[in-house]
Amino acid sequence: MFETLSDRLSGVFESLTKRGSLSEKDVSAAMREVRRALLEADVALEVVRDFTERVKEKAIGQEVVKSVTPGQMVVKIVHDELVATLGSEAQTIDLNAPAPVPIMLVGLQGSGKTTTCAKIAKRLTDREKRKVLMASLDTQRPAAQEQLKILGEQAEVDTLPIVEGQSPTQIAKRAMEAARLGGYDVVMLDTAGRLHVDEALMAEMAEIRDISEPHETLLVADALTGQDAVHLAKSFDERVGISGIVLTRVDGDGRGGAALSMRAVTGKPIKLIGTGEKLDGLENFHPERIAGRILGMGDVVSLVERAAETIEAEQADRMAERMRKGAFDLDDLSTQLGQMQKLGGMSSVMGMLPGIGKMKKQIDSSGLDDSFIKRQRAIISSMTRHERRSPKVLNASRKKRIAAGSGTSVQEVNKLLKMHRQMADTMKKLGKNKGMLSQLMGGGGM
Ligand code: GDP
Repeated sequence: MFETLSDRLSGVFESLTKRGSLSEKDVSAAMREVRRALLEADVALEVVRDFTERVKEKAIGQEVVKSVTPGQMVVKIVHDELVATLGSEAQTIDLNAPAPVPIMLVGLQGSGKTTTCAKIAKRLTDREKRKVLMASLDTQRPAAQEQLKILGEQAEVDTLPIVEGQSPTQIAKRAMEAARLGGYDVVMLDTAGRLHVDEALMAEMAEIRDISEPHETLLVADALTGQDAVHLAKSFDERVGISGIVLTRVDGDGRGGAALSMRAVTGKPIKLIGTGEKLDGLENFHPERIAGRILGMGDVVSLVERAAETIEAEQADRMAERMRKGAFDLDDLSTQLGQMQKLGGMSSVMGMLPGIGKMKKQIDSSGLDDSFIKRQRAIISSMTRHERRSPKVLNASRKKRIAAGSGTSVQEVNKLLKMHRQMADTMKKLGKNKGMLSQLMGGGGM
């Protein structure tokens, strides 16, 4: 799947990999190509626009990690944004509710609803050892109920006995009752489809929803219908309310437009994908893996990740060396704070910095968050080079100037200096043990 998009994208980066530096012009040119490739893959225009803007913003001015090319760097950024667009976290069917958990499937005729119903039931039975009951509420298509019964036999999953002449809502009530009495864990309701969305269909779905109160309402949509599938998800969500999407026929989808747009446009996660006609043709939707398949450049992505890790380890070693010599100045502190910011805030890395434990109380009162780190760095960057190297020269008037320049107070400047002194002292003491310091700084063999 996604062959076309994958081919088009790899071409885009080939030209970029040959360039020495990442200029706005290069990035813009590459993004024009990416935009064209995405549009050709039938990705929604708004998603394409948003996507290329985000990549551009991150790519221009991005520091290119040593030992990778600018083009490789862009591949990594595009990859990360693809993952974000697809929904970041893999989501599955949620069964966290009192049994029998009702799961309702909705969608147009021919989208693969009945097949998907049996696929999910089989998976829940085989892998999760749940007792599942399936019921077809499709009284429109003559053979629909019979079709589910046959699939149930293949999957070795129970189906609700067929009673001629019942309405969908009557069947829904009977299914819920049978599931309760029969001690089933899950009851799957396969509803009727139509060729198009119409008011009668939506009203019927809403009525069944009110009777069965489904824990999951899954829209089954055909990936091959591209943007129609996305619009469909939107209207079903507005009218009936859906909790997730199963995208079928992904095995035949060379473009991937529906998969890429679905999350961004509807805000609903793709929970599963159908990858074949057989009952085992069902897979979890992993944004990471899908992004990898779309881009077809998994090796480049991991190369950039590894290179970035190496750089950080080298930086940590360099830092440890300076500390060993007792040369930890305010520039070094700023670098450290910057790394903390990247690692996601102060509290998570608190223990990594020697001497900072003593300061914990003081910092606590100012909040252990990003904004605290930002203020600290602002103070340091308001100092002259000389002041940063030799904090001793900081007298009252200099501190006042720095406080004004960084939008903080003299008191905060004093706090920062005290923190730096305590850290530098502890580090000097620790400095005799090079290995330990290196470890504390997160480098050297950790
Ligand atoms: P319904 O009308 O929505 O219930 O659709 P069906 O379940 O009857 O499916 C219609 C056709 O699509 C059948 O021939 C299925 O075998 C086929 N189908 C369903 N899901 C997939 C899928 O993920 N991949 C492929 N290739 N075919 C599928």
